[in-house]
Amino acid sequence: MKHIYFTPGPSQLFPTVPSYLQEAIKNDIGSISHRSKQFDELFEQTTSRIRTLFAVPQTHAVFFVGSGTEAMERVIQNCVTKESFHVVNGSFAKRFFETAVDLGKKPKKIDVAFGTGIDLQKLKVPSLSELICITHNETSAGVMLPADEICKLKKRYPNKLLAVDTVSSAPYGTFDFSAIDIFFFSVQKGFGLPAGLGVMIVGPNALEKSKKLQKKKSVGSYHAFSMLFEFAKKYQTPETPPVLHIYLLNNVLGDFLKVGRNVLNKHAEEKAKLLYDYFDNQATWSAFVKEKAFRSPTVIVAEIGKKQKELKAFLAEKNCIVGSGYGPYKDTQIRIANFPAMAKKDIEKLIAALKAYDRSTR
Ligand SMILES: *Cc1c(COP(=O)(O)O)cnc(C)c1O
Repeated sequence: MKHIYFTPGPSQLFPTVPSYLQEAIKNDIGSISHRSKQFDELFEQTTSRIRTLFAVPQTHAVFFVGSGTEAMERVIQNCVTKESFHVVNGSFAKRFFETAVDLGKKPKKIDVAFGTGIDLQKLKVPSLSELICITHNETSAGVMLPADEICKLKKRYPNKLLAVDTVSSAPYGTFDFSAIDIFFFSVQKGFGLPAGLGVMIVGPNALEKSKKLQKKKSVGSYHAFSMLFEFAKKYQTPETPPVLHIYLLNNVLGDFLKVGRNVLNKHAEEKAKLLYDYFDNQATWSAFVKEKAFRSPTVIVAEIGKKQKELKAFLAEKNCIVGSGYGPYKDTQIRIANFPAMAKKDIEKLIAALKAYDRSTR
């Protein structure tokens, strides 16, 4: 039996990926030139599918980069003269903040207790902060901030840029892109692909800011926004990109579009409910995030305690690979990814395995 990877990135491959991989080999995708018409068409179709899936207006550009972590660095480089502002509610948001420190900026932040949410409508952003950085789904803690609240925050601060990290939520969630300046994700989580490709969606104000900034200081070289934009207009990338990844992403996007985003969202919520209902209605374990409004549908974190290692091994024997907790919770929590690649029956299988372990220890 093959394993099911409930690990929150890399994660279970989307079921159609093996056949697209074979097709890619057959079609010589690994050998085509990134300056060829064939690639231009692939770029065009892939970015246009991204636009359709997320309802991205033509005002925004779609760029390919190497990873979610790279996207963080590009955002700070291209959009911040001195000061960014970060909502830090876990390890990934912290990395975004630290990226700004490393790049010589003077970022500010608000710290939110691990595993809890924050009322974004009460959030005060310092007046000098140029860019607000939000992690939509904090993968380390299993906390998701509501997409509409994030968009509303921008409406209160229309003169600041807003960057949203959706690495472990996309394609889940519905954002109004008139409120979004930068949106980024990588493909090894919700898209069920091997790691190695990041996607950035960048709006006109962020492009403008980068252009201004570039006159005064370096905003990077081949992945400066202006360079990415210049090539994107020609349906190309500045460097030789991972064409195979883009090919696979294009095909998985095609599958997602056949289902439709609303249905994808609904599936995610239904499967998440199975897991949260299970954790809420038995006595052995509990869901880590207590406030229901902030419970992530895509990464479910459960408190296991001393038996975590034993439980993980038991689940692995049943072919269910779950993630460990993050940082200080490494040995006491498990994290369960609930992405489009996991079918309802996979989640049911995992819950049955959790139940079987629980019974075996009585
Ligand atoms: C995984 C993750 C990242 C890092 O993405 P990479 O593609 O691994 O660089 C950033 N933010 C969040 C929320 C993540 O879950």
